[in-house]
Amino acid sequence: LDAVRAVEPRIADAIAKELTDQRESLKLIASENYASPAVLLAMGNWLSDKYAEGTIGRRFYAGCQNVDTVESVAVEHAKALFNAPYAYVQPHSGIDANLVAYWAILADRVEAPALAKVQKRNVNDMTDAEWAELRAAFGNQRMLGMSLDAGGHLTHGFRPNISGKMFDQRSYGVDPATGQIDYAALRTSAQEFKPLVIVGGYSAYPRKVNFRIMREIADEVGATFMVDMAHFAGLVAGKVFTGDFDPIANAHIVTTTTHKSLRGPRGGAVFCQPELSDQVDRGCPMVLGGPLAHVMAAKAVAFAEARRPEFADYAQRIVDNSQALAAGLTSRGATVVSGGTDNHLVLIDVDKYGLTGRQAEQALLDSGIVTNRNSIPQDPNGAWYTSGIRIGTPALTTRGLGTGEMDQIAELMHTVLTSTKAGASKAKFDLATAVSDRVSKQATELLADFPL
Ligand code: PLP
Repeated sequence: LDAVRAVEPRIADAIAKELTDQRESLKLIASENYASPAVLLAMGNWLSDKYAEGTIGRRFYAGCQNVDTVESVAVEHAKALFNAPYAYVQPHSGIDANLVAYWAILADRVEAPALAKVQKRNVNDMTDAEWAELRAAFGNQRMLGMSLDAGGHLTHGFRPNISGKMFDQRSYGVDPATGQIDYAALRTSAQEFKPLVIVGGYSAYPRKVNFRIMREIADEVGATFMVDMAHFAGLVAGKVFTGDFDPIANAHIVTTTTHKSLRGPRGGAVFCQPELSDQVDRGCPMVLGGPLAHVMAAKAVAFAEARRPEFADYAQRIVDNSQALAAGLTSRGATVVSGGTDNHLVLIDVDKYGLTGRQAEQALLDSGIVTNRNSIPQDPNGAWYTSGIRIGTPALTTRGLGTGEMDQIAELMHTVLTSTKAGASKAKFDLATAVSDRVSKQATELLADFPL
């Protein structure tokens, strides 16, 4: 850090403070993890300086031989790890990966047939009328994705994201009685709506998803089936989700982030069937800038780490821990959405404590427990205040905490949530400093046995 400090001490301090904070608080954000030193170091080097637009061996810049090596090795590990026929490791983030996939689907299913109708090999020869016809072909394409309150993500066709402007979106949700996906309702909705693309995957759904059934539905209505496995990629890599629950084996195209349960650098990737690979490769320059070679290097390292046998053990421990946490919270009276969990996250309804998600999130944070507020199905408090708290185990599992510690964490959370009283607004609350200080201290003590 000395080199950074010599230039801008405030940045050096923020980096050092971030490490301290991550060491001392209970990191329970479901989308976060601790990347290994090898992953972090692979990112901080001279690869960052290189431009390499294009694909492996076909770049628009000279001198890309080392980037070619990096990208090839990342692809090799990615394909082997997920047993995928094709991998594209350039997306800079999960949003970018989804954008690459959406354009690939649109190009394959909409642009290519429309261009074939125009029957000109050179787009420079197209008339204005032919361009207008092509643009019209892109309009009103439909997407069926999971609703936000059931755990879907903004990039699955919602207005604040470009996907909500590219597609006319209809949502599928969960059965209110079980909190789990209602596949019969999903099938009916797909038959009525006839989407171009059905999106599986989520940010806050605590159960495994039967991707085989979803693929059957997509085939019945002629849709492309895409899965965004950003959250649970580590559980796919670690072979916790196999067979009907393996997105790669069941979908036409799969996107992911690399930094959540997969424990790599911040970034994204796309996997697809061979027929979509040409379109996916056009991600740069269609929606991506030059690839981040240093991040692709770190992805290669993370994929290689995830191919080791100990990663499968890690993935199973993530689920064991979230199930222990769900059980610990339930036995202390919490309402766990869907009654439990099959994956890396637990969602609780904090209305039980008379709190909004916003109040509960801050009260927990003040007590050294880092979670995030989240909508729950049919949430009466909307997406800003919410009624839920999402709790994830990938990061603490990386530090080595096990099911016994999860029960202690359930006790700490119970103490905070039952000691917090709602205030005059949906954001205000009262929590005695004596309680938050004591819980913070207990959290730090608990972590002392699991150094970072
Ligand atoms: N897809 C899902 C399901 C996510 O949960 C997220 C992030 O929260 C993303 C995509 C976007 O990832 P990123 O923040 O890397 O763009």
